[in-house]
Amino acid sequence: MKNLKGIPASPGIAIGKAFLYLDDIIKIPKYEVSEDEIHLEFTRFLEATKRASEEIHEIKKKTSSGKGNDEINFLDSHLLMLNDPEFHEKVNTGLKNYMKNVEWVLFQVMEELIEKLNSSSDGYLRERTIDIHDVSKRVLNHLMYRVRISLADLSEEVILVTHNLLPSDALQMNKRMIKGIAMDAGGKTSHTAILARSFEIPAVLGLSSIVQNVSTGDEIIVDGNKGVVIINPDQSTKQRYLISQSEWQRREAELLTLNELPAETKDGKLIKLSANIEVPEETDSVLAHGADGIGLFRSEFLFLQSKGLSSEETQYEYYTRVLKAMKGKPVTIRTLDVGGDKIIADMEGLGEKNPLLGWRAIRYCLAREDIFKTQLRALFRASIHGDLKIMFPMISGLEELSRAEEILEEVKEELGKEGISFREDIPVGIMIEVPSAALTADILAKRVDFFSLGTNDLIQYTVAVDRGNEKVAYLYEPFHPGVLRLIKMTIDSAHEQGIPVGMCGEMAGDPMASIILLGLGLDEYSMSPFSIPEIKKIVRSITIAEAEELVGTIMEMKSFEEIDHFVNVWMHERFDLVTAS
Ligand code: PEP
Ligand code: MG
Repeated sequence: MKNLKGIPASPGIAIGKAFLYLDDIIKIPKYEVSEDEIHLEFTRFLEATKRASEEIHEIKKKTSSGKGNDEINFLDSHLLMLNDPEFHEKVNTGLKNYMKNVEWVLFQVMEELIEKLNSSSDGYLRERTIDIHDVSKRVLNHLMYRVRISLADLSEEVILVTHNLLPSDALQMNKRMIKGIAMDAGGKTSHTAILARSFEIPAVLGLSSIVQNVSTGDEIIVDGNKGVVIINPDQSTKQRYLISQSEWQRREAELLTLNELPAETKDGKLIKLSANIEVPEETDSVLAHGADGIGLFRSEFLFLQSKGLSSEETQYEYYTRVLKAMKGKPVTIRTLDVGGDKIIADMEGLGEKNPLLGWRAIRYCLAREDIFKTQLRALFRASIHGDLKIMFPMISGLEELSRAEEILEEVKEELGKEGISFREDIPVGIMIEVPSAALTADILAKRVDFFSLGTNDLIQYTVAVDRGNEKVAYLYEPFHPGVLRLIKMTIDSAHEQGIPVGMCGEMAGDPMASIILLGLGLDEYSMSPFSIPEIKKIVRSITIAEAEELVGTIMEMKSFEEIDHFVNVWMHERFDLVTAS
């Protein structure tokens, strides 16, 4: 039995057999080959590319039914590359130059091609690096007789153990079969963690060395409440966890009985509790957990799923599906927030030195007006099907907001001229997730209909901590006095201008933060659907005066350690909380 401590990223307890997914870290063999063997090595390469092509044809056959063309177009470019004589020639020349086995030579060719494309000034060429990586990996898998097990094809229940899982992989995995996730990389607000919570899969991230310690088939416990993973537990530990697991499930079922009740404090203040979603399939869960609406629909996940850009028509249908499913409840759709850890294949600028400070979100959209306008057109067209609000991500100041508003007006005008109907009165808001926006909230509040605090990024940029980097996760602190001051400043400025403030960062679903946010005056909390009942229970058991008193005390404190400790004790004295803070 071995215990590993990581970051509690998605609550719940999973017990099962480990499945080690090592897709990202292939060890490439390297050995000399003689002149006579070069020909044999090249034949192996040709056979592997042939099998890779057959595999892609199979995938195309399977996916073409029921999916739009946008979603499989990238496979055609992979086929072209596999059969490209120039690509074959590069490998052949590499074999002759290096006199090494073909796996190693192919890896060098791949790296050279990627480096060359990355340094190109042509955005389209730079975008192709992801394809080269994918295609080369596929051929390498065949050369090394590695069965490429797709996470989408899993047919038995497992606990996924991996070094790093990209959000795009997480979207494609067979969620019914993945009972838990244990991962070396990642932080609490990385997008993989967010997806795990959305899919209600218990997860512990930031484990650093799980991959070295686990083999496929090992028995493993993932305790997403405490951030612990236990490998090959002894009988008494397993028994203890089976009891905790059923206790957790009982508690969850009990919380769901609050669904029909409003989130109203004991002294009568009504709070909105909304849900964050990434894909339309989540709307059932949103309604089942009694949400007042959707406070954040991360529209970029459509692009991540389809591995590329989406047409106006595909987007229109996608947004309409969510609006209709929500039956008139408000739905805030955020415009494209790609960049950072959310990379789409058609995106220019891959390989930026500082992607989190680079070409992300609204910056990308303002530079690629074609993409932005297509999305806005689809949103306006869909607006007639429900109560839509539009939200811009990563606004850092007035200039970006003004430009985004101008483009929005242009789109409205175009649609008007084309005689296409849409709602004229769609509220438009912005995310407050860059410190400069929080610091100028008084200026920005005069220009928009609402704010939504994106604390995942706001904390990252305020404390200068990459939210996905487990090594500095200890500094990623919602209760840092600097963060709390920015939140307060944002809420106060918004209220002075008479606009509401929501929060859609993960802090909104953290029970430990719930009363503080209430005391600071937050109007709407938006979170993973399953967190709603617990936050509702807390909101219903407190008065605004009590919450304001708590805020008064902690705003005087000097460090996050002091605040953390105080809030922990305060909350545990009053509530039966299972999840770790
Ligand atoms: C945030 O930054 O808090 C947020 C909600 O957006 P995302 O997590 O998608 O960056
Ligand atoms: Mg963000």
